[in-house]
Amino acid sequence: MIEINNKRFEVYLRSKEIESLVINMANRINQDYKGKDSVLIGILNGSFVFIADLVRQLDFDPILTFTKLASYDGTQSTGQVDELIGLKENLKGKHVIIIEDIVDTGNTLEKIVEIFKGKEVASFEIVTLLFKSCVYKKGIDVKYFGLDIPDKFVIGYGLDYDGRGRTLKDLYSLKKS
Ligand code: IMP
Repeated sequence: MIEINNKRFEVYLRSKEIESLVINMANRINQDYKGKDSVLIGILNGSFVFIADLVRQLDFDPILTFTKLASYDGTQSTGQVDELIGLKENLKGKHVIIIEDIVDTGNTLEKIVEIFKGKEVASFEIVTLLFKSCVYKKGIDVKYFGLDIPDKFVIGYGLDYDGRGRTLKDLYSLKKS
């Protein structure tokens, strides 16, 4: 059990279990993208640990770049997504793979899809470690996800609560008081 800003969190998923989710996802991506001209785009900040682990399981050599968006305020989605850092790569004809830490309402994803409209990419898919399908409100296909989780607020493995908890090796979920 850990406490951050008066909120208590309990272990939800151990690092060993996360590791096997990442390996399974990488195996699928390796099969689907081998020999393709691919660009991985990591959505910062939360995905940085996941990306680092995922790319080291890949057996092809994609371009890797990052962009940064934000939609959360504390433990509540604000519904508002701002693009903070734009993308400069020319993506025309490339197989684009977006890497997210967690897909919740899908507001972030919707914004991402908007950004990529008109970029004439060869293909476009979403990879996310965690997927809250029970609260997901959009029709965009989330092709690769590690684990479908209930509507819990989780931290660790890159995910934060008010900027804290990102460096925890395991995933923790908020304990209801
Ligand atoms: P969405 O736009 O509601 O789908 O939320 C996506 C973004 O909100 C993620 O990339 C995270 O940065 C953040 N987020 C969503 N759920 C959680 C959570 O349970 N813990 C920490 N951050 C979260």
